[in-house]
Amino acid sequence: MKILAVNAGSSSLKFTLIELPSKNTIASGLFEKIGIGNSMYTIKFNGEKITKEVDLKDHAVAVEVLMQELVDMHIIASLDEIEGIGHRIVHGGQEFKESIILTEDVLRRIEKYNELAPLHNPANIMGVRAFMQVLPHVTNVGVFDTAFHSTMEPKEYLYAVPYEWYQELGVRKYGFHGTSHRYIYKTISEALGRDDLKVINCHIGNGGSITAIDSGKVVDTTMGFTPLAGIMMGTRSGDIDASLIEYVMKKTGKSITEVTNDLNKKSGLLGISGVSSDSRDVEEAINEGNERAILAQEMYCQKIANYIAMYNNLLGGADVITLTAGVGENSKTTRKNIIEKIASLGVKIDDVKNDMRGEFSCISSDDSAIPVYVVPTNEELMIALDTLELINNK
Ligand code: ADP
Repeated sequence: MKILAVNAGSSSLKFTLIELPSKNTIASGLFEKIGIGNSMYTIKFNGEKITKEVDLKDHAVAVEVLMQELVDMHIIASLDEIEGIGHRIVHGGQEFKESIILTEDVLRRIEKYNELAPLHNPANIMGVRAFMQVLPHVTNVGVFDTAFHSTMEPKEYLYAVPYEWYQELGVRKYGFHGTSHRYIYKTISEALGRDDLKVINCHIGNGGSITAIDSGKVVDTTMGFTPLAGIMMGTRSGDIDASLIEYVMKKTGKSITEVTNDLNKKSGLLGISGVSSDSRDVEEAINEGNERAILAQEMYCQKIANYIAMYNNLLGGADVITLTAGVGENSKTTRKNIIEKIASLGVKIDDVKNDMRGEFSCISSDDSAIPVYVVPTNEELMIALDTLELINNK
């Protein structure tokens, strides 16, 4: 059975075609600059990558081109082979606590939360409608970034602000990267043969969030009302004192939108190092002795370590710490730095085991109080598995 996992942005469409139950990725690709001119796409299949430039006036045209290519490139014999399409949807508000089969009625309910994720949700929904138009007989499933976090309790998800903000405006912590956190929990609990694990999962890529999970249920997570909160990220500040926004606005004459943009796009590793948001560039600058890059890396790792220690307390002692996403899977120096900063928990790294990239692997020493694993994430597979499950239960 072949399932497409889709992540639609405002001018992009990312797809992965997955075979189930083998879990093999058959093909993947990206359509870019849809509707804004100079559009192009790449498709990876059988170890080869094709890139083409073609006018894509909207997402429906991109989907039509994709379907044509899948057949022309002999990736599938006919469109009937695609049995389901799973869509990443960033925000499901408080309403959508798990994945759901998408109908026009469900889409309209999801649209109520567009205001909570204005950059993402309308684009995600546009992607769904494009597939509904081009492949009207195929089941579409929505998989929400927020859903896995819906088990948080009010004491964790509420901010200490006027209660009416929550009641009337929906101001609360929602959390993001839920599909990745859920995938990591599933993978580590299957690998260790336990479904009662207390896990601290660190999803650290360009964006980043840490989640405390107990027996498959999220207890707390670092991202908040938006993905700006929590740990320091590539370009996002993470937690700050909200008062600095008004202060910076008054001092610089910047608008609230400009300051918010600075916090989202010019902060984090980029803001402190002045070099780059990419940890590879920061590491290179560190090797050249760049003081601000060293500071950025120290701050980055310290903030992650602080949350791990906090969540260890919240969980009453974690059974396992997992690291995932671009930085977690690939940067052995960042992993080592983080683990050295939680030495007070009795956690110890094994430098030999840590000397690898992108593999499911234990990287802590045998006498570490809490084992640490690197677990490569696969949100697309999680989306495909949810899609299959909902189709089977239809
Ligand atoms: P996103 O949040 O956009 O999904 P990813 O999880 O793909 O991001 O992570 C991307 C980040 O991973 C890059 O910005 C880079 O900082 C980091 N990264 C990728 N490869 C390496 C590597 N070999 N060494 C260090 N960092 C890496």
